[in-house]
Amino acid sequence: METIPPVPELPEVETIRRQLDEALPGRTLEHATIVDERLTRPVPPATVASELRGRRLGRVRRRGKFLRLGLDGGDELVLHLRMTGRVHLEPGNSAERTHVRAVLSIAAGDTVVISDQRRFATLRLAGPAETDAEWNARLGVEPLEPGFTAARLQALLDGRMTSIKAALLDQRLVAGIGNIYADEALFAAGVDPRRPAGGLTDRENRGLHRAIRDRLRAGIRTNGASIDSFHDSLGNPGTMQHELRVHLREGQACPRCRTPITKLRVAQRGTYVCEGCQR
Ligand SMILES: [Zn+2]
Repeated sequence: METIPPVPELPEVETIRRQLDEALPGRTLEHATIVDERLTRPVPPATVASELRGRRLGRVRRRGKFLRLGLDGGDELVLHLRMTGRVHLEPGNSAERTHVRAVLSIAAGDTVVISDQRRFATLRLAGPAETDAEWNARLGVEPLEPGFTAARLQALLDGRMTSIKAALLDQRLVAGIGNIYADEALFAAGVDPRRPAGGLTDRENRGLHRAIRDRLRAGIRTNGASIDSFHDSLGNPGTMQHELRVHLREGQACPRCRTPITKLRVAQRGTYVCEGCQR
């Protein structure tokens, strides 16, 4: 069994982003209650909560797996769900939830509840001085933006001796890909996850570039993969788990060549591969 539950990846975080971005901009954050000091560490929860009180909410953006809730004055509330963090957008002050870590009460009704069973999620207030350049120093290219070309991917992988799976999981190279979409993209591209990242042919690199975008878009279209704890902010599961071709399908027939899917350990992660069609 996989000991690490699937982390919300780019498509899951993007699903939540879209929902929050429909509901929140222009409204006022009346009151914030942060019940878990680990969420905002090292900043005390009361400090963050008092900074948030009465703030007007702006657009909700995403960078990699980070959610960025815009606030007046150019500040942002930056949330990373890590492993089991969830966001619930609820009418009224219901919040009948377990593992509640923070509650943001919005004027005229709604509540944004952040819950997290394992308590690895992080919430941070970022000032207006935090620039795109600072984000770009921490995180690699956004795979669904125009800047992510096959040539860019090739340049990122060039000369790397680490496995292609490890390279795809490295947020400093390409932001937002995790275990699920790495496995699915490598299968779609017919590339063995153990291959050295710098050793792909031009043709394989172009195929992988296309596969990454295609699988991430499929994840967004289906509102994400609900394998373990992921539900969107309205409480609904996504359906991407039904479209997975290798991930978590150990022993089942490859949809392309009928070879049973094998589970390997690559880059310290359970990795699913068809040894019949991934070379
Ligand atoms: Zn196969």
